[in-house]
Amino acid sequence: MMNVAIIYKDSQALLEGHFKLSSGNHSQFYLQSAKVLENPKTAKLLAEALAEQIIASGIKIDAVCSPALGGIISGFALATALDVRFIFAERVEGIMTIRRGFEVQENEKYIICEDIITTGGSALEAAKEVEKSGGNVVAYAALANRGFCSRENSDLEATSSCKLPLDKPLFALEDFTFEMYEEKDCPLCKDGSTAYKPGSRGN
Ligand code: ZN
Repeated sequence: MMNVAIIYKDSQALLEGHFKLSSGNHSQFYLQSAKVLENPKTAKLLAEALAEQIIASGIKIDAVCSPALGGIISGFALATALDVRFIFAERVEGIMTIRRGFEVQENEKYIICEDIITTGGSALEAAKEVEKSGGNVVAYAALANRGFCSRENSDLEATSSCKLPLDKPLFALEDFTFEMYEEKDCPLCKDGSTAYKPGSRGN
C-alpha cells in the first residue's frame, strides 16, 4: 500500500508552519503538490495507483479533464496511466473555459482530475464546461482529498463545504484532514506568529 503522506513529506510538499489558505483560513500545514509532481517518476507512480482504483471500479473513462493550472500535471499523468485523451479547462477573466482547440465529443465519458480536492469548486466548474459541450462527467479524481468531500475506499464523510455532486464517485489516494482556523480563533496567531500565503514570498 502506497503511503502518500510519506511521499509528500519526502518531497518537501507537506509544509509545516503558519499558513493563510486561499479560503482565508489559517492552518499549520500546507500541501504543495507541485513539489511532489516535479519528479516525473513520482507523478507516474501516484497516477498509476489512482488509475488502478478507477479501473477496479469498472467505470469506463474516455478522457480526463483538469482545471488549470493545479490539476494539469496530475491529470496528464492519470490520462497516461488510463491510456485516454487529456484536455484542460482554464480561467479566462475568471470564467472556466475549454479552449485551445480541445473538442468534447457528445456523450464522451470524462473524469475530472485535480491535484488536491479541497471543496472541489474548480473541479465542478471544469465539469460544467465539459457537460455544456455534451460530455458526460462520470467521476472525479485527485491525488489527495483535503477532507471536505468523501472519496471511494474511505469512511470519511462529506461536509457541507463539499461542492462535488454526491452521486459521482471521487477517487483519491489519501485523506489529509488538517485543522483549519478562522483568523480570530487561530492558536498560531494567538502565539504571536504571522500567517503567510505560500507562494507570496518567492516560494
Ligand atoms: Zn493564524
